[in-house]
Amino acid sequence: MADNALKQNLLDLSLADLKAFFEEHGEKAFRAVQIVKWVYQRGVIDFDQMTDLSKNLREWLKLNAICRLPAIAVDQASADGTHKWLLQLDDGNCIETVFIPENGRGTLCISSQVGCILNCSFCSTARQGFNRNLTVAEVIGQLWIAAHALGQYADGADRKVTNVVMMGMGEPLLNYNNVLDAMKLMLEDNAFGLSKRRITLSTAGVIPGMDKLSHDLGVSLAVSLHACNDTLRNELVPLNKKYPIEALMQACQRYVDNGLHRKITFEYVMLAGVNDRDSDARDLVKLLKDIPSKVNLIPFNPFPNSNYETSSPQRIKQFVQILHDSGVITLTRKTRGDDIDAACGQLAGKVKDKTMRSIKMLKAAGA
Ligand code: SAH
Repeated sequence: MADNALKQNLLDLSLADLKAFFEEHGEKAFRAVQIVKWVYQRGVIDFDQMTDLSKNLREWLKLNAICRLPAIAVDQASADGTHKWLLQLDDGNCIETVFIPENGRGTLCISSQVGCILNCSFCSTARQGFNRNLTVAEVIGQLWIAAHALGQYADGADRKVTNVVMMGMGEPLLNYNNVLDAMKLMLEDNAFGLSKRRITLSTAGVIPGMDKLSHDLGVSLAVSLHACNDTLRNELVPLNKKYPIEALMQACQRYVDNGLHRKITFEYVMLAGVNDRDSDARDLVKLLKDIPSKVNLIPFNPFPNSNYETSSPQRIKQFVQILHDSGVITLTRKTRGDDIDAACGQLAGKVKDKTMRSIKMLKAAGA
């Protein structure tokens, strides 16, 4: 038996790469389509069960390839139907995936990195530092695991995961190639067959990645804005120092101009006394005036020592009113799954922090 670590993990390959893999080994490229159908449409990862492959091919696959997924370490269901999985990766790191059922749709929130490098001041993932990018198998594996656990692969079952949001741990555009290949499998008719409208990538504003994405794939885009002036945004989203608001808005305009999407979603976390005044709402209206957009207000989800508070419901209502009165489409995100710490910015994982951020922070605090 060959060493599993030396075998090619087929979940790391897009359909095009899988075709190339078979061709390199003297096999027909259409085998790739058969495999992709088994794995992603029927949830079968055991080569012996892939009955339309010849016995010889199955034996060859068993020696040279594997379908390897992250392991489920913890599986938690919230009272409101939200589901969270803590997944353990081969190197011992953990990531989180969250399923949110609502009004006939099922949205899966997928992580893209182990930890995050961006250090946004109000996000708990930032506290854990950064370890590494996820592989294609670890990104697409989150969808496979959720679909499997939710019973989507049972005979005659409806599709449970109808939408995917790349809004879990990490900055997806800083793991561009792997996230792109995983999203191609989400879109691929022979794999998950989701439409571009049903996949949303959320970014803190990595401009080169946004331009590339618009050219390469054009899924729906959400931008984590959170502030309308550079001084405040530099503090909340330090990436703003590199890609400031004006340049970010131009990049958003380019994304819309490519014609694939009518609107960009702007995420705006509501932080009491920080960015939630009437004047902030008016600034937001001005900033978005020329960009086809909708706003997603996210009440801040607290975590220990976060140093921020959530805006009051009355404040949020008033903020929404100003946006509505100016014709800005605004939704306030419901906090889901907070009894299992599955809400935005609460995803903890278990990260072997290569940036040593927690130690640096303790030192800075004089500990
Ligand atoms: N890096 C990407 C995706 C991850 S975060 C991005 O920045 O968009 C997904 C969303 O949750 C972002 O809008 C993020 O700013 C928001 N978020 C992070 N921490 C939060 C918290 N504690 N409360 C509410 N929203 C938070």
